Amino acid sequence: MLEVRLAENLGFCYGVKRAIQLAEDSAEPDTRSYTLGPIIHNPQMVARLAEEGIGKIDTLDEISEGTVIVRSHGVGPHVYEKIERKGLGLVDATCPHVRKAQSAAKAFADDGCQVVIVGDRNHPEVQSILEWAGAGAVAVASEAEAEDLPLYGRLGIVSQTTFSGVKFKSIVNKLLDKSSDVRILRTICTATDQRQSAAVKLAGQVECMIVVGGRNSANTTKLAQLCAEKCKTYHIETAAEVCDEWFATIKKIGITAGASTPDWIIKEVYEKCQKK
Ligand code: SF4
Repeated sequence: MLEVRLAENLGFCYGVKRAIQLAEDSAEPDTRSYTLGPIIHNPQMVARLAEEGIGKIDTLDEISEGTVIVRSHGVGPHVYEKIERKGLGLVDATCPHVRKAQSAAKAFADDGCQVVIVGDRNHPEVQSILEWAGAGAVAVASEAEAEDLPLYGRLGIVSQTTFSGVKFKSIVNKLLDKSSDVRILRTICTATDQRQSAAVKLAGQVECMIVVGGRNSANTTKLAQLCAEKCKTYHIETAAEVCDEWFATIKKIGITAGASTPDWIIKEVYEKCQKK
């Protein structure tokens, strides 16, 4: 009999749950609502919201009326200004942890610091923090990038909320050489760490892991990479991808899911595995 185990922490984090709830609550019969970018990196959830009448736009230029839902990654100040200028409604689902990083970056900049965000500059959350920090703020994602920065009078450091705690510490160590006046706010959210630790722990106890979540979800992909270091791992988006042959020779399988994976998809995968 196959034993199917779920990771202790998996699936939606607080910020994503909140954003989806706010989006669903915004649906009204006579006003169209649109998320600015996909609400989360999960195509099935985006499709479900579309069925509930909540569309997706990539830029504010696509609409002239309706309500805009700002997703958990947040946006820069110019987006709020444009929403107001166009007379659009606003539902702000920026995760409070992201808001904290944005506010800290702005406060550092207002205080005359060079702002450095430790994170992936292409990630929408980091882009939103960069915009709050104003012109001149930079993002670094490696020790080498930190070393390449010049010396500064004052330095203010924040992190992408989903950045690795260990790597943040190592990059900050390099940044400490760049100024004698360094202020640091470690704005890393525990949801990512918890999901990663639980996934690694489970991957060490089973023969095979299934990681459920969007292929375009960075946090799900990271979970799959971590699990793959411990055991055979499959990254899937839905239960339809679960294959019989995976179960031919194993007795114990683990399941985890990224912070943007809906509960109903995790449940479908779990139930399908239990029938093997
Ligand atoms: S991972 Fe953390 S910071 Fe990001 S949306 Fe979830 S709770 Fe918020």
